[in-house]
Amino acid sequence: MSENISLPSPTITPVSRRFWHNLKEGRFTLQQCDSCEKYIFYPRDHCPHCFHPSLTWKEASGEGALKTWSVIHRAGHPAWQEHTPYTVGVVELAEGPSLLTHLIIDEKNLTYNMEVTVDIVNINSQPLPFFKQKKEEFLK
Ligand SMILES: [Zn+2]
Repeated sequence: MSENISLPSPTITPVSRRFWHNLKEGRFTLQQCDSCEKYIFYPRDHCPHCFHPSLTWKEASGEGALKTWSVIHRAGHPAWQEHTPYTVGVVELAEGPSLLTHLIIDEKNLTYNMEVTVDIVNINSQPLPFFKQKKEEFLK
């Protein structure tokens, strides 16, 4: 049944378009508030901390710490079912904000606060910010 279902793509809005465009170029970027200088994620048209309307896109480190995770055995969308089990988690980025993401990390190696780094993965030609264990960088 799921053979004819394609994986859902993100909904790209005028506010998030820059994030997805940069990701396609291999750049993981975040908005930074021009007033309070806090970084934010997800993309918005104003700062959620001080409500300032001016935000600037900045290169992000792509690094963070894993705060929690869950192994998905029953996908939330039918197209993902054939990819189960897979792992999603919340990564607290070095710049401050957190995001929910796919983890490309063996389940048995997952630990609280482990250092992770972004790995841009193409799903149906759509680049998505997945995260992998930072240590892998040093082993290669
Ligand atoms: Zn602000």
